[in-house]
Amino acid sequence: MNRKVIIIGAGLTGLSAGIHLQQAGIDSEIFELANWAGGMCTSWVRQGYRFDGCIHWMVGTHPDSGFYKLYREVDALASDTPIYSSDSIEMEINGKMHVLPLHYPEFCDYLRKIAPEDKAGIDQLDRDLKRVTHSKLPSGGPVNLKELVKLMRESSGWLMVMGKTVSKTVEEYIRPIKNPTLRALLFNLMPADFSATALLMMLGARMTGDGGYPLGGSLELIRRVESKYRALGGEIHFNSRVEKIVVENGKATGIVVKGEFFPADAVIAAGDAHDTLVHLLGKQYPHPQLDQMLSSAPLFQPLGVISFGLKRRFDIPYARTYEVPEGIEVAPGVVQHRLFVHSFDFDPSAAPEGGSSVMTMTEMPLKYWQDLRESDMVEYKRQKQALADRYAHAIDARIPGFADAIQVTDVATPATYVRLANLYQGSYEGFLPTPTALRKSIKNTLPGLANVVLCGQWTVAGGGLCTAVDSGKKAAVLTQKILKD
Ligand SMILES: Cc1cc2nc3c(=O)[nH]c(=O)nc-3n(C[C@H](O)[C@H](O)[C@H](O)COP(=O)(O)OP(=O)(O)OC[C@H]3O[C@@H](n4cnc5c(N)ncnc54)[C@H](O)[C@@H]3O)c2cc1C
Repeated sequence: MNRKVIIIGAGLTGLSAGIHLQQAGIDSEIFELANWAGGMCTSWVRQGYRFDGCIHWMVGTHPDSGFYKLYREVDALASDTPIYSSDSIEMEINGKMHVLPLHYPEFCDYLRKIAPEDKAGIDQLDRDLKRVTHSKLPSGGPVNLKELVKLMRESSGWLMVMGKTVSKTVEEYIRPIKNPTLRALLFNLMPADFSATALLMMLGARMTGDGGYPLGGSLELIRRVESKYRALGGEIHFNSRVEKIVVENGKATGIVVKGEFFPADAVIAAGDAHDTLVHLLGKQYPHPQLDQMLSSAPLFQPLGVISFGLKRRFDIPYARTYEVPEGIEVAPGVVQHRLFVHSFDFDPSAAPEGGSSVMTMTEMPLKYWQDLRESDMVEYKRQKQALADRYAHAIDARIPGFADAIQVTDVATPATYVRLANLYQGSYEGFLPTPTALRKSIKNTLPGLANVVLCGQWTVAGGGLCTAVDSGKKAAVLTQKILKD
């Protein structure tokens, strides 16, 4: 008799798990609380403008990359998906706009020009960047000795750098660098408390074309994956928030949605880990690592995304950050002093001909936006527009004519993302990749519960789409093993 697996959540993780199960001949059904697939990997289309609510860059866009192979397996990337890789990032520090080349060794040469006195610190970064740009980013994990040998050969530079930097924060890693501008540039690339491995991974990926943007963005990516899942016979139930995982004698027997029981031989929880442990399992099955991390590990802070559809193009690059000394208020009493502006002009499908899709993104408090949304929808909408106006005004001060060119505006607050994807504390990528979190290998099963598999961005610090696609596949493999036992 064929076995049935229920997957909670139609984000990239859940879809990836579903595809690998269907391909292995195991029936699966996905239950998703929203009325579309993708979770946080989504975009909004407004009057012909596409506003990407997720991808800016994703690890694994180079055809030689292991993650690329994983994306191809689920059609997240098609063989002909064009990838855009930016040559630079622009960043204003103390009134000067720096154009940082995203190439090795030009990046280090640029830093040396700013601070020749920091030669020793820059040379260390240079050596590590050379290693990571000349070796393959490990992905997936070896499954046998042959793969292990291959990994050691192809990824030796990466493995050496990871071993050396994973336990260090970015602050510790760049401590030999004293020049304040250089320090500010590097901390803007990666926050001081993240593991230095995260900084090197980001730079290494982007310098080798392995951290690009697939044209068509999040929406097209998810459409391809969803189509593949359906073509393999998978079924998705939308508007179906899972309320409970039913357990009998240490085994999940199914789930409850809107009071109705759906039986299963195994359950893959590909949504939010806190929701799974606390609400769906009623705290009956402790997960020592996750319980501890959910209560004390630092999380990615909630984000708001403000997008503008412009009737004409400006010379806005892929990514530029301005200083805003006077600040921009993102909630009462909360002010941001950096303005990130991101244009999608490199993607012709992002805007009507001649137009431009531009977005800005910043951290903002979940509580204010969620309380407002729940208490007064009219005022919530008014405040969203006021926020967009403040951002338009701030951008216009740096790019004259910007405000007059706006045709469409869209604001996604932290409350939007919680509504879309049921995120614990509005955290859009789970646990921060600090040295402590990055070294944790979070278990995908729960003690005393045989057939529930946890996966997704809450099971690997740092999150992101590469984690999602990899973690979904691993969950499918583990579930097959559980079903056989
Ligand atoms: C603004 C923003 C920018 C980002 N930029 C990037 C980027 O540039 N590159 C990158 O790699 N990543 C980026 N990310 C992160 C990336 O979107 C996520 O890491 C990834 O999409 C996580 O996928 P997932 O499937 O694990 O989780 P999710 O996308 O959260 O999917 C989980 C799904 O489960 C559903 N669900 C939850 N609870 C239940 C329940 N009880 N019942 C039914 N369904 C449920 C949710 O609705 C959701 O659809 C960004 C995220 C945001 C918000």
